[in-house]
Amino acid sequence: MINDVQTKIEQLYSRVSSTVEQGAFPHGVLVECQNEHEGELFARFIANCLVCRGQNKPCGVCQDCIKAQGKGHPDIYETDGKRKKSNTFSVDEVRDIRENAFIVPNESDKKIYILKNGQNMNEQAQNAILKILEEPPSYVFFIIVTTSKSTMLETVLSRVQVFSFLSEEEQVTDKEMAIVKNMVSAILSVNEIELMEQTAVFLKNNQLAKTILELLTEVFRDALVKKSGFVRKFRFMEETEKLSNKLTAKSLMQLITVCDDLINSIERNCNNNLLVVRMCYEIKRAMGR
Ligand SMILES: [Zn+2]
Repeated sequence: MINDVQTKIEQLYSRVSSTVEQGAFPHGVLVECQNEHEGELFARFIANCLVCRGQNKPCGVCQDCIKAQGKGHPDIYETDGKRKKSNTFSVDEVRDIRENAFIVPNESDKKIYILKNGQNMNEQAQNAILKILEEPPSYVFFIIVTTSKSTMLETVLSRVQVFSFLSEEEQVTDKEMAIVKNMVSAILSVNEIELMEQTAVFLKNNQLAKTILELLTEVFRDALVKKSGFVRKFRFMEETEKLSNKLTAKSLMQLITVCDDLINSIERNCNNNLLVVRMCYEIKRAMGR
């Protein structure tokens, strides 16, 4: 297992070097890594490869490499966007970066922005980044580091290339993410048909159903955590926020029980159509309808 992880990380690093050498590196990159420190090291490696003027990037001996590795390269900017003791990535910081990006580089022919703390970028900050990701100056490169790509807006994800440190099992696919988001919005709506339709999407396939129910349990638990005032990173930021604002702790706990029961029923191979009906009924009950 350790070896697999090691190989995967080595592959990520060599993928960066070769893409930069081919001159085809994308202007927007997202580094997904649960360990923030590890993600940041990787982002710095990318920045180093981009400014390197030698062969076999990063060559480690050119002036740019020496400066980048000493963290003193004038064209590599690194920020976690935190202002006024807040943990959020400030939208003002993004606006400053946007202005700064239009000033040509100092020494290199490229300018690189490493935006750490991506998991704490709210919608406003992400939309501000999106504006420049859509039409970046030719010399500008953005590297956003986040603990989970699910914290990013889909519009941002469509503009970046993702380098993920997560193992296949840890990665939530775009499809699964979309299903969970739709389910949460169906739960919050009072529309019975929508709830029925969304539930049917994943309860027909046992493997998918289990994954989605586990993810839903995670969102409900996170909403409970948020409700009790804890501030931490959540995989589904928007959904966690909405659920914690709109539902009572009692409803959230009941929803967790509903998911648990359903997972047990799936393992006992119950009829899937009946499960859809049961899940909708139980959700409505948990919501007090
Ligand atoms: Zn170099």
